[in-house]
Amino acid sequence: MAGSVKGDGTEEFKGLRITSLDDDSDEEEEQKEPDVAMDDDDEEEEDEEARNSVILGFVKKPKKSRSLLRHFFPSKAGGVPAWLDPENLPSGRSCCCDICGEPLQFVLQVYAPEEKESAFHRTLFVFMCTSMACLRRDQHEQWKCQRDEPSRSVKVFRCQLPHDNPFYSSEPPKKDSTEDPLMAGAALCNWCGTWKGSKRCTGCRKTLYCSEKHWVKHSRSGHEHDCQRLRIQLADSSSANSETTSAVVLKGKYKVVFSWEEFWVGNLTALSRLVASNNLWPEYKIIQEPESSYDTEMPDESVGTNSLISSNRMDDGLMSIADNFTGDGDRKSWASFHVRIALAPEQILRYCRSFGAKPLWPVSSGRPSTADIPKCSYCSGPMCFEFQIMPQLLFYFNVKNDVDSLDWATIAVYTCEASCDASVVYKEEFAWVQLS
Ligand SMILES: [Zn+2]
Ligand SMILES: [Zn+2]
Ligand SMILES: [Zn+2]
Ligand SMILES: [Zn+2]
Repeated sequence: MAGSVKGDGTEEFKGLRITSLDDDSDEEEEQKEPDVAMDDDDEEEEDEEARNSVILGFVKKPKKSRSLLRHFFPSKAGGVPAWLDPENLPSGRSCCCDICGEPLQFVLQVYAPEEKESAFHRTLFVFMCTSMACLRRDQHEQWKCQRDEPSRSVKVFRCQLPHDNPFYSSEPPKKDSTEDPLMAGAALCNWCGTWKGSKRCTGCRKTLYCSEKHWVKHSRSGHEHDCQRLRIQLADSSSANSETTSAVVLKGKYKVVFSWEEFWVGNLTALSRLVASNNLWPEYKIIQEPESSYDTEMPDESVGTNSLISSNRMDDGLMSIADNFTGDGDRKSWASFHVRIALAPEQILRYCRSFGAKPLWPVSSGRPSTADIPKCSYCSGPMCFEFQIMPQLLFYFNVKNDVDSLDWATIAVYTCEASCDASVVYKEEFAWVQLS
C-alpha cells in the first residue's frame, strides 16, 4: 500500500496511518450537518459514501515481534499493549472491570494520528473483561451513559502526543531498526504485563503487580518459588552478618541463586511468554486494506487456508444472529451486513472516521440512537464513530464457541470528534457493544 507522504518525508510510518483516506473529505466538511448520523432515512446514500472510505483491518502474525514495540507505532491485537505514553498509564478504577473488579484484558490498539499537531501520534486502546457474564451486564449499562456513571466491562482509551515529545525521536523509525525505545517507561505488572506495577509483593518486596488479584494469580502459578529465592538473596545482600537461621537453611535448599539482574533479564523475556501462560490473547499485527479494493472481487479465494475456518466460524455466528431475529428491520440489517462482510470475511476491524460514518450493525435492534452516545467527558463536545471490532477476532483469539465464552456481534468505538487535549493522558472514550 502506498503511504501518504508528509512534508518531513516520513513515508514509512505515515504508511501505517489509518485515516479516512477518501479524496472527497473536503466536500463532506462543507456539508456538515449535525445529527444525520443515526437516522435511517438516507441510509443507502450514506452507505455508498461510507463504502469508499472504510478501511478494513486484518490480523497477521508479525515476522518479528519487535515490529510491535511502541516506537514503531503499531496497530496490534492481543498480547500486551504498546503504550504510546509509556509513563502515565491509566490507573485505579480505569484498569478494572466495573462489574467484577478484575483487571481488564488488552484487546487491540489502532494507531490513527490526526492532522492537528497535538495528535501527531494518536493511538486508541481497547480493553475488556474476559467474562461473558460481565459483558451481558455491560449491555444494560451502556444505555445509561448519558445519565449516571455506568459500570462497564469494555473500555477504550485515547492517547495522543505532539511531534516533539519526550518519548520518541522526531525521526520516523527505520523499518528493521534494532534500536530500543528511548526510555524504559513505567514498570509493568509481572503477571499481565499490561497495567502499571504499582503494588509490591509483600514477600520479596521486589516483584510488582497492578493489583492484588494478579499477585495472587502469580503466587499460585509459580511466583512463590521465585519469591523465596528473592527473599534469601535480599537477606544475603542487606545483612551478610546477620543472616537468620531460616535463611541459611533455605539457602542450602536452593543452591542456585540468580543475581538480581539475571532475574530481571529473565523476566523481560518472560514477558513475551506471558501470552501462553497467563491467558492473554495471542498477539497479532493489524494490517489494513481499503474496503473499496474488495468491491469488485468475488468472496475471497486468495486468502489461504485460514479463510475456510474463519468464514465457518463467522457463518455460525451469523446463523445464531439470524435465529434471534425479532423483526423485518433485523432481517434487512442482517442481509446487508452479510453482503458487506462477505467481500472480505476475515476482517476484524472496520475503520472510518469520515463525517457521518456509521458502524455496520449486524442487527437493527439494540443500536444506539444519537442521544445514546454520550458527549466527550473532557471537552463536552460530540463524539463520533471511529471504528468497530468484528466477531472474527474471537476466532483468532482462540476463544471457544461455548455458551459462556466471550462473544459479541460488534463493538463500535466512538471518540471525541475534536480529539481534544485534556490534562488526562489516557482519555476514556466510548464503546457500544452489540451481542449476537
Ligand atoms: Zn468483569
Ligand atoms: Zn496485572
Ligand atoms: Zn514475591
Ligand atoms: Zn473531547
